[in-house]
Amino acid sequence: MSDVEDFEFVFLGGGKGGKSLAIELAKAGHRVAVIERGMIGGSCINVACIPTKALIRSARVANVANEAAAYGVHVERAQVDMPAVRDRVGRVVQGLVDINLAGFKAAGFDLILGTGRFTGPRTLEVKLNDGGVRMLRGDRVYINTGTHADVPQVPGLRESSPLTHVEALQLTEVPTHLVVIGGGYIGLEMAQSFRRLGSKVTVLQREARVAIREDSDVSQLIAESFANEGIDIQTNAKISSVSGTSGQSVKVLLEGGRCVHGSHILVATGRVPNTADIGLEVAGVEVDQRGIVKVDDVLQTTAAGVYAIGEVAGTPMFTHASFDDFRVLSSQLKGGSKSTRGRQIPYAMFIEPELGRIGMNEAEAEQKGVKVRIAKLSMTSVPRARTNTDTRGFMKLLVAVDSDQILGFTMLGSEAGEIVSTVQIAMLGKLPYTVLRDAPLAHPTIAEGLNLLCAVVPARGA
Ligand SMILES: Cc1cc2nc3c(=O)[nH]c(=O)nc-3n(C[C@H](O)[C@H](O)[C@H](O)COP(=O)(O)OP(=O)(O)OC[C@H]3O[C@@H](n4cnc5c(N)ncnc54)[C@H](O)[C@@H]3O)c2cc1C
Repeated sequence: MSDVEDFEFVFLGGGKGGKSLAIELAKAGHRVAVIERGMIGGSCINVACIPTKALIRSARVANVANEAAAYGVHVERAQVDMPAVRDRVGRVVQGLVDINLAGFKAAGFDLILGTGRFTGPRTLEVKLNDGGVRMLRGDRVYINTGTHADVPQVPGLRESSPLTHVEALQLTEVPTHLVVIGGGYIGLEMAQSFRRLGSKVTVLQREARVAIREDSDVSQLIAESFANEGIDIQTNAKISSVSGTSGQSVKVLLEGGRCVHGSHILVATGRVPNTADIGLEVAGVEVDQRGIVKVDDVLQTTAAGVYAIGEVAGTPMFTHASFDDFRVLSSQLKGGSKSTRGRQIPYAMFIEPELGRIGMNEAEAEQKGVKVRIAKLSMTSVPRARTNTDTRGFMKLLVAVDSDQILGFTMLGSEAGEIVSTVQIAMLGKLPYTVLRDAPLAHPTIAEGLNLLCAVVPARGA
């Protein structure tokens, strides 16, 4: 048994929030260790946000080339060189891994490459990647182990060696026919990317519509846009069995007798927290029935001195949310009072038309019994969308009935992921919607649409 090394702060997993706190603490002179089993910088950089958005960019370039004639520019049809696409994605990833590693070194924490698990309260064993074991104890321990793709227990699915986002990013050929299981954010981004890179694509969505957490007008427009690109979306698609091998030939049998054949299968049906086999029970850290670490609103677990960060703690599944966990923990360490209570996390889905969202949508307002005024503006009314010949989508604003407070914003349209920040800032500043209505916003920009959107908010009592 190795000797136990004492640290002030130990991080199990180097996700966004954890690595940020580790850097801050190490720079302040504390003794800090980060245990990371291999992804320098966490999953966002290595296998999630960054490589998927780089892939999406390549796919958009192919799409722009294929649609160029509509803009009066004639080019030959895009020829996709998939190994070159993969290499480009890899270079983007490597660039950020290098920056992270340099940042870790400059901060001066002990980066321990290996797989960690608790062996007792605030005590961990690390099986080092290059052999050997280290034992660590922290005055405070942070769990930031993230999640992994769920591959459901469907007969034949696991045996078919399906792709997840991880393997899909390594493909060196364009799948002839990609069958995507799951019509959520990851499934939809992947489906549109591979369609644009040249695959035939079928999306199998268990629910009655895609993007089920969004309002039905969002789902409907996504379905229409995808159909226009030749993506086959099959809803209410409950899978009975899968046969064959992804990469060669697969057959997916659906309840009711429908059958889909494809060359590759990609699973995007949800995420499983990385909490199995890390010894949480001996550390006194409780999890809920989904395996998510139970935390309070300052991310304290059920074990004294142990905290959890990011997706493993049930934080919304976004990098900026994990980073906000860092802010909460940093604030607590400095005697501040920031918590996760009441925070609103915006997000984007990087399909076209793009989705941007903050706060309540119509469905949630109805569910919570919150009365709202709703303004909706078609992107056809936004001059910049017209100059771009990209008028798909809409902006939708929810405003309180008894005040001019903005309660939520949903946008499906170009630059939605950028525009949502403008509304978010207004919400954070508790600005009445009339400020957005009456501000001179630059013309012609997509953001200018907010002027027009706010002008159609129904008057109070109307
Ligand atoms: C395909 C895809 C696309 C996404 N796109 C976006 C996007 O566009 N925008 C966005 O905001 N979010 C996106 N996300 C979500 C985002 O990636 C995560 O929310 C974000 O990375 C935060 O994760 P985290 O801090 O919880 O942990 P992670 O970043 O997942 O880090 C966990 C780390 O712990 C390590 N680890 C796990 N177990 C152990 C162990 N026992 N020992 C040692 N190390 C361990 C892992 O190797 C990993 O590096 C996407 C996710 C996926 C899957």
